[in-house]
Amino acid sequence: MVLSKTASETDVSIHSTFASRYVRNSLPRFKMPENSVPKEAAFQIINDELMLDGNPRLNLASFVTTWMEPECNKLIMDAINKNYVDMDEYPVTTELQNRCVNMIAHLFNAPLGESEAAVGVGTVGSSEAIMLAGLAFKRKWQNKRKAEGKPYDKPNIVTGANVQVCWEKFARYFEVELKEVKLREGYYVMDPAKAVELVDENTICVAAILGSTLNGEFEDVKLLNDLLVEKNKETGWDTPIHVDAASGGFIAPFLYPELEWDFRLPLVKSINVSGHKYGLVYAGIGWVIWRSKDDLPEELIFHINYLGADQPTFTLNFSKGSSQVIAQYYQLIRLGHEGYKNVMENCHENAMVLKEGLEKTGRFNIVSKDDGVPLVAFSLKDNKRHDEFEISEMLRRYGWIVPAYTMPADAQHITVLRVVIREDFSRTLAERLVLDIQKVVHEFDALPAKLNARLATEKQEQVKNGTVKKTAIETQREITAYWKKYVTERKSNNKTQIC
Ligand SMILES: *Cc1c(COP(=O)(O)O)cnc(C)c1O
Repeated sequence: MVLSKTASETDVSIHSTFASRYVRNSLPRFKMPENSVPKEAAFQIINDELMLDGNPRLNLASFVTTWMEPECNKLIMDAINKNYVDMDEYPVTTELQNRCVNMIAHLFNAPLGESEAAVGVGTVGSSEAIMLAGLAFKRKWQNKRKAEGKPYDKPNIVTGANVQVCWEKFARYFEVELKEVKLREGYYVMDPAKAVELVDENTICVAAILGSTLNGEFEDVKLLNDLLVEKNKETGWDTPIHVDAASGGFIAPFLYPELEWDFRLPLVKSINVSGHKYGLVYAGIGWVIWRSKDDLPEELIFHINYLGADQPTFTLNFSKGSSQVIAQYYQLIRLGHEGYKNVMENCHENAMVLKEGLEKTGRFNIVSKDDGVPLVAFSLKDNKRHDEFEISEMLRRYGWIVPAYTMPADAQHITVLRVVIREDFSRTLAERLVLDIQKVVHEFDALPAKLNARLATEKQEQVKNGTVKKTAIETQREITAYWKKYVTERKSNNKTQIC
């Protein structure tokens, strides 16, 4: 086994070439090695292997923050050894999380008094936040049904087929049926009218998305609210709304303050947002806010006594780091309303530069909207010769990570490429990316077309008749085409894992 000798036995310093200075064998992968290695060697070999990961700054697949100011990086490192759950020992950290909850609740127009504490909690991300919000809806609905003497064993949630995979997790883990409104070509978000049609007496909530993961589009929460108010009046139910504002929650208040999507709408009872997306904090933080105490069933809350005061907690996990909470508070007070607005405006402008650049090539249809999350989703006007997956692959060669994926049911036949614009994606990088996409398209034009379906069938006939033999490259292409089709089908069956 590798690394089995101690440092003194191998005398690591005698080897003169770089790679053998530390270790000359491959690294342990299954069993922990018997002996220790010097810390410098451990650092170097792990660091070297990690060089092969993509560069996070060029990872345009993700909404999650990849850059923060050095001052905040320092706060994060200084708190790296603080367990968030030790509230008695770290009361200030707890206080900072409570301040963040208050600020975000106000940002979402929760009906609160000037100095009234908001109802909400910091989580590891929107996924945990959604599990908690979903549980609150389920419990409230069950309590009501029990009180009415009605069956409460078949709860369901109504969403669009464009929901993020964490909703499917919630449904499966907590035994709630997911009723999805199908999409259609050219319309990639939940249709509020269709959603309200799906609502029945077992619906615990309708989940709307502010910033669809697929194309960044904001769903029409106001229309949903109005239609649902009517339906509730007719039926006597009181089906509520949750807004999954994972990415849009920190965009809409700054770019579209007039847009009514939040607690201004009476049926919106809870909202989640990812602190680590446009909240501008590194991965590991989300928030869920409830409209009022009445919307979070008391039996789900645990009360911790800290410094003689009551600290209610409602989370799935126990221990976690404190750094992300501190970093979120840093961003909120460092940037303020002005700063967030600046960042979001700049992201939006960079998205427009990219979009216009792509339109100028004449080769793409833009699938994203100008006034959603700052991202550009686009598909090829003509993908018969080469498709979006191939463009994605080719862009990797220039260092860019741009995902390609197929849309959910009933728009699976549409494939898109998606570029998320984050704060650290500058104007220069946007222009550079347009140039590189142009280069890729031109390279493709010069390449022979991939297996064309009609030619393939003709050729198969000929091969069967024995008139002609397949070349190796043709066989290879057929195999590739088969696997691509297989992967695409699998992807549209299981929700595409994009974040
Ligand atoms: C990212 C995202 C999620 C999941 O959020 P995490 O913070 O990554 O757990 C859920 N819903 C939507 C709409 C998202 O964009």
